[in-house]
Amino acid sequence: MAGSNGTGSNGSGNGAKPALMGEAYPIIDHTFDVVVVGAGGAGLRAVVGSAEAGLKTACITKVFPTRSHTVAAQGGVAASLGNMGEDDWRWHMYDTVKGSDWLGDQDSIEYLVRNAPAAVYELEHWGVPFSRTEDGKIYQRPFGGMTTHFGKGTAQRTCAAADRTGHAILHTLYGQSLRHSAEFFIEYFALDLIMEDGACRGVMAMSLDDGSIHRFRAHKVILATGGYGRAYFSCTSAHTCTGDGNAMVLRAGLPLQDMEFVQFHPTGIYGAGCLITEGSRGEGGYLTNSEGERFMERYAPSAKDLASRDVVSRSMTMEIREGRGVGKEADHIFLHLDHLDPAILHERLPGISESARIFAGVDVTKEPIPVLPTVHYNMGGIPTNFHGEVLTKKGGDPDAVVPGLMAIGEAACVSVHGANRLGSNSLIDLVVFGRAAAHRCAETIQPNQTHAEMSKTAGEEAIARLDHFRYASGGTPTAELRDRMQKTMQSNCAVFRTGEVLEEGHHKIHELWAGAEDVKVSDRSLIWNTDLIETLEFDNLISQAVVTMDSAMNRQESRGAHAREDFPDRNDDEWMKHTLAFCDPDKREVNLDYRPVHSYTLSNDIGYIEPAKRVY
Ligand SMILES: Cc1cc2nc3c(=O)[nH]c(=O)nc-3n(C[C@H](O)[C@H](O)[C@H](O)COP(=O)(O)OP(=O)(O)OC[C@H]3O[C@@H](n4cnc5c(N)ncnc54)[C@H](O)[C@@H]3O)c2cc1C
Repeated sequence: MAGSNGTGSNGSGNGAKPALMGEAYPIIDHTFDVVVVGAGGAGLRAVVGSAEAGLKTACITKVFPTRSHTVAAQGGVAASLGNMGEDDWRWHMYDTVKGSDWLGDQDSIEYLVRNAPAAVYELEHWGVPFSRTEDGKIYQRPFGGMTTHFGKGTAQRTCAAADRTGHAILHTLYGQSLRHSAEFFIEYFALDLIMEDGACRGVMAMSLDDGSIHRFRAHKVILATGGYGRAYFSCTSAHTCTGDGNAMVLRAGLPLQDMEFVQFHPTGIYGAGCLITEGSRGEGGYLTNSEGERFMERYAPSAKDLASRDVVSRSMTMEIREGRGVGKEADHIFLHLDHLDPAILHERLPGISESARIFAGVDVTKEPIPVLPTVHYNMGGIPTNFHGEVLTKKGGDPDAVVPGLMAIGEAACVSVHGANRLGSNSLIDLVVFGRAAAHRCAETIQPNQTHAEMSKTAGEEAIARLDHFRYASGGTPTAELRDRMQKTMQSNCAVFRTGEVLEEGHHKIHELWAGAEDVKVSDRSLIWNTDLIETLEFDNLISQAVVTMDSAMNRQESRGAHAREDFPDRNDDEWMKHTLAFCDPDKREVNLDYRPVHSYTLSNDIGYIEPAKRVY
């Protein structure tokens, strides 16, 4: 770990700091059964479940809970309720496996889709104000890749609260979590895990408003820290999506899985990056090129504009490359909603109508919205089983559980989304696995159970890292390093990839990683020091950018969101396996390994879905 010896190689002028923990940074100790890091949909669902089970539960979050990125989710949450036409969990399972391009673990996928309807009804009973059908049932819209009868018909599976589903879910979950006696540590920044003897014993955090340092001891730490979209220049995710939990896992010597799979959403607003939900195509919207052609009919004759996201993003990129983009620079595509009834737009898509007006100056009832594929979701993350327990490869066991550590939500790679996530399958992943993780805690922890021994100096390395960056006095401001990282990722690890472009990206991003030692932090205080926090976040992002690039360079095939022009086909013989990326931030080294994909299901009710070519 950079500066982990506490001497600070950055000329901080503080000299050696053996007393960092006591004098410079007094520690406030806390003891809980369960500590959840993150208060998005996944974190809050786990908090509710753990507190409900009578476990002493804490939730640490760097932003106020209802400001977590989940609040921005628009289109909806998938579950085979069958409210607007026939549906079956088996079809949802088939679609998810196919959408994942056979990289998803089929036991986890079965767990997800079978538990999805109950999870949605639970949300309904807790108060999520879902849109309704005429007869009062939860309204469901079609989304990309969601079919009936194993690919034959179109499923209406995505439960929606207009186009503000995430907002409705997050506020409801926060309300529910307050009914129980969970303790919230709001605007606390988690710094690092406390790992001893290969087990997680707790987590270190800093209060953002007074700089106090807190050591949380727990039987289980659940990471629910979200994705790392901000490694890229143009993304739909919030500025806070810096994958801090993922980076903590890398620093703990544990692997991240399938990091090469980064989803580009077809319809980010051109220039601004804000999302226009796939639900807009679900309601009848379509894409056109400069010739006014509905080109998706050529690429996906059956699913058309509702093919899965990787397919639509690639088709748009092809159109632009072949000179049929729209606008002065012919560098984007139009999304039409102007043929739809304004009353429907007002009722079902009010949020995106507003976004289009503010960010593109467009009245959606009259003109098309300029859009471009934009980074949206990270399929990769912390490997877990379907209980939410973190896995590593140890000895001959590719599924060795890391004691004390769990991960859920976008931070985790459970892996239900495999190489490509279907729209509306993330919100359901949050609540199903948030609940599963809480159940696992309830099964494995006795309330007030004695804690394992922890050394007195536990957490020292986290403080040394904090101190290192606080006094960093190099020549390059964090913002400049971040900008270079984001642009490198955007141009060298994009929708289409080649060995040559990735190799160049690999050199650039490793050079930047090495050069990050030269970072300059100007503010030395501990009171709302955004300069310092952004630097810690950048340090978290750069390690994830590096493993993303290296995993992408390594995978010599095309699968899901990972499209290699030099290896255009999926190669199941060699590559139907998960990538594991370990990294040593001290040596600036990445090591890659693999885990087998789980080619078995939980029950015999459906059985393994054999690989097939994806046709849309
Ligand atoms: C614009 C947009 C629209 C979307 N629409 C949909 C949709 O319609 N349907 C769908 O299924 N999916 C959608 N997605 C994807 C989905 O919303 C996300 O994958 C999901 O909300 C992530 O939830 P999460 O709980 O894992 O993390 P988040 O909601 O991102 O929350 C992360 C939490 O971790 C905390 N945290 C992070 N780092 C630290 C730290 N160092 N210390 C303390 N706390 C920390 C944050 O404070 C926050 O509370 C959308 C995504 C975006 C960006």
